[in-house]
Amino acid sequence: MNRKQQYLAKHGRVRQSATSYLSLILKAGGDKSSPNVCGTMSTKQDSLWPRTIAHADMDAFYAAVEQLDDPSLRGKPVLVGPRSNRGVVLTASYEARPYRVGSAMPMAKARRLCPEAAIVPPRFDRYQEVSRTVMDVFATFSPEVEALSLDEAFLDMTGSEQLFGEPKAIGRQLKRAVYEATGGLTATVGLSSTKYVAKVASAYGKPNGLTVVPPKQAKAWLAALSVRWLWGAGPKMQRRLHDLGLRTIGDVAKADPKFLYKELGKAGPHFHALAHAEDPRAVTGHQGGKSIGSEHTLSTDTADTAEIKRHLRRSAETIGRRLRKKGYFALGVGVKLKTADFQLLTRQRRLTEPTDVTEKIYSVGVELLKVFDHQGPFRLVGMAAHALVRSEEQTQLNLFGGSARQRRLEAAIDDLSERYGANIVHRGNDLARPSRARLAATLDFLDDDSVD
Ligand SMILES: [Mg+2]
Repeated sequence: MNRKQQYLAKHGRVRQSATSYLSLILKAGGDKSSPNVCGTMSTKQDSLWPRTIAHADMDAFYAAVEQLDDPSLRGKPVLVGPRSNRGVVLTASYEARPYRVGSAMPMAKARRLCPEAAIVPPRFDRYQEVSRTVMDVFATFSPEVEALSLDEAFLDMTGSEQLFGEPKAIGRQLKRAVYEATGGLTATVGLSSTKYVAKVASAYGKPNGLTVVPPKQAKAWLAALSVRWLWGAGPKMQRRLHDLGLRTIGDVAKADPKFLYKELGKAGPHFHALAHAEDPRAVTGHQGGKSIGSEHTLSTDTADTAEIKRHLRRSAETIGRRLRKKGYFALGVGVKLKTADFQLLTRQRRLTEPTDVTEKIYSVGVELLKVFDHQGPFRLVGMAAHALVRSEEQTQLNLFGGSARQRRLEAAIDDLSERYGANIVHRGNDLARPSRARLAATLDFLDDDSVD
């Protein structure tokens, strides 16, 4: 039995996607508490993902919040919007959608189409509150989250595979974490290597779905979809494309870009690039709010590299210990130096894999030290770990490969420090040449909005 057959035997129901050979979309059965899972079958060669981008979108958000808060609305058609006939529907629950009711439809029309629907006036304060919970969940998965609205965001998961596993596992954990944190709301997640394909993938999987489109298959996956899935193609543009004989994204991909430019102006090459699954835009979220730092103001300014390194090590030890204690991993490390004349200099580096290992943090610090062009003397030396992510699942030690032994050693040191005080364990290096400069002040910070 191959992998596909095994999956089918286990999960039963199958939905054949429009695009034939590559994307057998699998929908697992089950109630709302066990999310549907769609996934494209992928082969080994598809496992190369230049970037891993997730688009997560809450399902019928306002209506779902109303159903969550008022059990009598569950399983029933709900329209969130004004009770009067003058406004429009903001969100229709999925139970209302078979009646062809959707958001932005005039309320009067929606009531005609679905007379039994409960009309619920919006409670934006409550949606904002739930939105904060959802965005907080996203922030535990990636330091780069770009919120598009209250209930929808891109997450750059590049480099996070070590923590969360392959893209499908990332999607599953994301959905589960949202479900648990909100007490029962579902999100639909799409994953691919571009923002565009990730967003189409999540829209495609709605509701409560998970669609993974490996980058090598993205162009072929898009090809069968209608041109209405092109980002930026409104009804007018769709008609224009139809007039040109372009009905599917595949048609647009095959069209001559010069022809498209002549007929559609700038939108032509834009659609052509999207149809080829090309979208270089980065996830432009804020750089992770969470960081852990440790810095020392020296009683005597120093330009001595060996001494600066000793302070870096001390900072790295504090940071590593706190990362491990809090269950965080850092995707970024920075060094901070303050010159004798109070100039603040910083250098940062993004890591290729997340770490909570002191030695790794220290070695990146030493590398960063080389890229400062100021020679000192310095009055302050510090390090910070930023872009913190937390592993949802117990991280398997073997994921850390060569670092596993180092992690065990550091965990043992943590344990001793905890019991006998932070200074009980000194490294050979430190003992051989005790620091001449006494520390005047130490500032360790944990900027993650929680009580340490
Ligand atoms: Mg939504």
